[in-house]
Amino acid sequence: MVVGAGPVGLWTAAELALGGVRAVILERAVERSPYSKALGVQPRTLEVLAMRGLAQRLIDEGRKVPAWHFGMLPNRLDYRVLDTPFPYMLAIPQLRTERLLEEQAVRLGVQIRRGHAVTGLDQDDDGVRLHVTGPDGDYTLDTQYVVGADGVGSVVRTAAGIAFPGTDTTGYHYLGEVRVTETPVVSAQNEHGAFLSVLLPDGRYRFAGTDAHDNNDRGPMTMEALRATVKRVSGSDFGMHDPAWLSRFGNATRLAEHYRKGRVVLAGDAAHRHVPAGGVGLNVGVQDAMNLGWRLAAVARGDADPALLDDYHEERHAVGEELIEHTMAQSALIAATTPETVALRSLLNSMVVDVPEFALALARRLSALDVAYKSDGHPLIGIRVRGHVSLDGRPVLCTPALGPATAAAAEELGIEVITAESTMLIRPDGHVWWAADDADDHVIAQALRDLGVRFPAPARV
Ligand SMILES: Cc1cc2nc3c(=O)[nH]c(=O)nc-3n(C[C@H](O)[C@H](O)[C@H](O)COP(=O)(O)OP(=O)(O)OC[C@H]3O[C@@H](n4cnc5c(N)ncnc54)[C@H](O)[C@@H]3O)c2cc1C
Repeated sequence: MVVGAGPVGLWTAAELALGGVRAVILERAVERSPYSKALGVQPRTLEVLAMRGLAQRLIDEGRKVPAWHFGMLPNRLDYRVLDTPFPYMLAIPQLRTERLLEEQAVRLGVQIRRGHAVTGLDQDDDGVRLHVTGPDGDYTLDTQYVVGADGVGSVVRTAAGIAFPGTDTTGYHYLGEVRVTETPVVSAQNEHGAFLSVLLPDGRYRFAGTDAHDNNDRGPMTMEALRATVKRVSGSDFGMHDPAWLSRFGNATRLAEHYRKGRVVLAGDAAHRHVPAGGVGLNVGVQDAMNLGWRLAAVARGDADPALLDDYHEERHAVGEELIEHTMAQSALIAATTPETVALRSLLNSMVVDVPEFALALARRLSALDVAYKSDGHPLIGIRVRGHVSLDGRPVLCTPALGPATAAAAEELGIEVITAESTMLIRPDGHVWWAADDADDHVIAQALRDLGVRFPAPARV
């Protein structure tokens, strides 16, 4: 059972189904929210979607943005220099991204039950009992594993007793989607606050930023407050009118202590809460789901030891730590109004232009192209791979020459084989699982068996 039909729940369920597991999503809302929180899809997410043959559909619907911002610094990071087939940020509303993810999930047989809210859970060594309130009242559901993809207020996380340490909200970021009579500046920042403006597909502009004067205002965002802030920061309100969405977001930042507790696993915002800066939350969540899906499918099928799920925590919690670090840093840059923090912002802004390696490192961090999982083995193990991934979610062995022992092991374990210059095994999520220099046939065959995971033919779905 997957709790939550946001982007992360949808992608996790789709990956589980691809791995031959019947996945059901319980979603509290009867209908999807009309608001698109995320507006951007990062390069690594496009690589991930490309591994399942879905990237082009999204690219056709979106707009390619070749340079992106870190913490609203005026000097942009050049994405065109990134080593990826998708060297841009794809501007596309979250609603459309979710629609594509949902189509993939439904196509693979995922059932989505809308209007079913999870209210609690109990687990023991044999399974999990979910407590649910549905349209016809309360009921319980027994299941093997539960994925909590139920967002920042995750009931699954709380009910499983997973700690969520971090910082409380000390300031607010505002958001307003409005029509204008005058084209706004792209960004502005001074002692009164900051904003970034983004043109939306419906012709409105999204203004998002911080206000130094009402930073601790917890009340609902109003048109008057948005107008006043934007005018104080830039000198004009650009004739704003006709709001579609006005909101505020606190800067609380938290990271789940454990991504897995027994038979409960967390992914996406349920595992990490942070300021929406740099356009990363949805992206990191989809990449959590990509790391989790094939593992959980293999464990649920009985084709892998449950310890495979502990590696999910090891790998993605480390990415979560970097995520909260750089979003907090961006939050500080956006809210910078003291002479010291303004000086810091100015220094970093110059470095984006003067030190190309610095800009590249930031771009690789936001785009998630720098994610390489730690390993004590061969230097290639854990790094990301762009191609050589099977569309049906099975591992791929790249090797210059296929010996009979390796061929037999690959056949038995359900691993695809392709000819390549070096020997390495690519995981279903596009990271190197195992690699060797000059390994002979028997060593490769034994290494495949030692991984301890079988991938039966997709016909088992
Ligand atoms: C203003 C703003 C701008 C953003 N911009 C970007 C961006 O440009 N790029 C980016 O990558 N990210 C961005 N993000 C972050 C992104 O929107 C989130 O990270 C993303 O939605 C997380 O997806 P999720 O599936 O984990 O959680 P959610 O999208 O929150 O989905 C959780 C789902 O679980 C359901 N649910 C909750 N509780 C229960 C329950 N008890 N039972 C059943 N169902 C339940 C909810 O109804 C919801 O459908 C932005 C966020 C904000 C607020």
